[in-house]
Amino acid sequence: MLITVTSAKRGALSVAGMSTRIAARRVYLDGEFRPATVVSEGGVITAVEPFDAAAETVLPGDSVLLPGLVDSHVHLDEPGRTEWEGFATGTAAAAAGGVTTIVDMPLNSLPVTTTTDALDAKRAAAAGKLAVDVAYWGGAVPENLGSLRELADAGVVGFKCFLSPSGIDEFGHLDAEQLERCLAELATFDGLLIVHAEDPAHLHADGALGPRYRDFEASRPPLSERAAIRRVIEAARRTGARAHIVHVADGGALDDVRAAKAEGVRLTVETCPHYLTLDAEAVPDGAGAFKCCPPIRGGDNRDLLWAGIVDGTIDAIVSDHSPATVELKGNPDFGLAWGGIAGLQTGLSAVHSTARARGLAFESILPLLTTGPARIAGLDGLGVIEPGAPAHLVAFAPDEEFVVDAAALEYRNPVSPWHGQTLTGVVRETWLRGESVYRRGSAVTERGGREILRATAAVDA
Ligand SMILES: [Zn+2]
Repeated sequence: MLITVTSAKRGALSVAGMSTRIAARRVYLDGEFRPATVVSEGGVITAVEPFDAAAETVLPGDSVLLPGLVDSHVHLDEPGRTEWEGFATGTAAAAAGGVTTIVDMPLNSLPVTTTTDALDAKRAAAAGKLAVDVAYWGGAVPENLGSLRELADAGVVGFKCFLSPSGIDEFGHLDAEQLERCLAELATFDGLLIVHAEDPAHLHADGALGPRYRDFEASRPPLSERAAIRRVIEAARRTGARAHIVHVADGGALDDVRAAKAEGVRLTVETCPHYLTLDAEAVPDGAGAFKCCPPIRGGDNRDLLWAGIVDGTIDAIVSDHSPATVELKGNPDFGLAWGGIAGLQTGLSAVHSTARARGLAFESILPLLTTGPARIAGLDGLGVIEPGAPAHLVAFAPDEEFVVDAAALEYRNPVSPWHGQTLTGVVRETWLRGESVYRRGSAVTERGGREILRATAAVDA
C-alpha cells in the first residue's frame, strides 16, 4: 500500500540526522512488554536493542513505552466550524492523549470533504497547525456517487457515509439503493466505505425530549443499529466491497458481525471509549456532554461490547472525537443538545482504566488502539515499535491516577463526559518522529505533524 507523506509545515525543524535512544524496562514489542532501548535516526526507528541504563532518555520504572496511538475517527471541524475544534487544538489534544496519527472525518467542517476542491480547502486549513500526523476520510453523499475515484486519487483513505440524517444539511445520507451503488463503485478500485449505521425507520422524530437520558436512549433503539448493520452486511456481501461500521454502540449487533466475518464478508467494526467506559444508568439528567448517536446504552450492553473486544470481533477502539461548543452541548434537553462526544485526549486512560478494572491485560487491548485502526485506514506500518517504523512513541504511567478536568484538556471547548472522574494511566510524554511534542504539564507548541495522503490501491482487472 503506497503512502505519500508530505510536510504540512514549511520550514519545519528538520529531524534528519538526529539520533535518539529511549530506554524503558517495559517496551511494548510484538504484543508484549519487555526491557529494551529504541534507537531512532532521522525520525525513523533503526534498531530495538537491549535495555541500556545509560541511554540519553531512560523512562522511570513506573512508565511503559508504547507506540504512538492511531485514532481513525476524529472530527476536527476545520475549515468552517473552528469554534467547535480545529487542527491546532485537536492535534494538540491528540499529542497529549498519546495519539500520533489521526484520520479526520469529512464532516462537520465547511465545506464537507466530498469533492477534491473541499479536500484542497481542508489541506490548506491544516497547513502549519499539525502537532501530529493527519490523514483524511472523504464523504460519500448522494451528490458525489459516480465520482468517488477522483477523490480517492486525491489521497483520502476511504469514504464515510450515513444511513440516517447526519445532523448536517450539507452531508446527506444514502438510502438502501445508493448504499449498494456506492459499494459497487468502491469495489472497482478496492475502496473502503465506513458507515454510520442507524436505520432511520427505527429512529423517533427529532425534537425536544426533556432532560431525562432514558428518553433520549429510547428514541434511538438498538434495533436501528441492528437493521442498518444487517443492510451493510448484505450489500458488502453482494458487491464484494470492503465495509467498516463506525462507533458500534449496541453489543447485541455483534452476533451479526461475527457471523458475517466468519462467512468471509469484508467487514470490520469499531467501538469507542464512551461506549466501553460509561453507561446509561450513570448519565445525569440534562448532561449534554454524554449525548452522542447512537447513544451510550446500559451496563449489560457494555458487557457485550467488552465480550466483542475479548473475542476479537471488534477491530478497533477509536475516539469518535466530535466536539461542539459549550453552548450547543449545554442544552439540558437531550433532544436539543448537540450530539457528539469529545474523547480524543482521554481515550487511552479511560479504556485502560476500565480494562484493568475488568481484569484484562493492557497488552490485549493495545492492538485495538494502534495496529487495528491503522489497518482499517490503510495505514499499515503505524502503531508498532520496530525498525523501519516512524519513531512515534509514548511514555505512559499505567498506575498513576488523575482526575479529569475538562478545562485543563487541550480541546477548544472544555466539555468532557469524564469530567471529574478519576482515571488510571497518565500520558507523560509523546514523541513524533523522535521529537518530543508533548510533555505533561507543558503546552503543546511543536507543529511538526504531516499530512498522510494515500495512493489509490491498484486493482487487478
Ligand atoms: Zn463521528
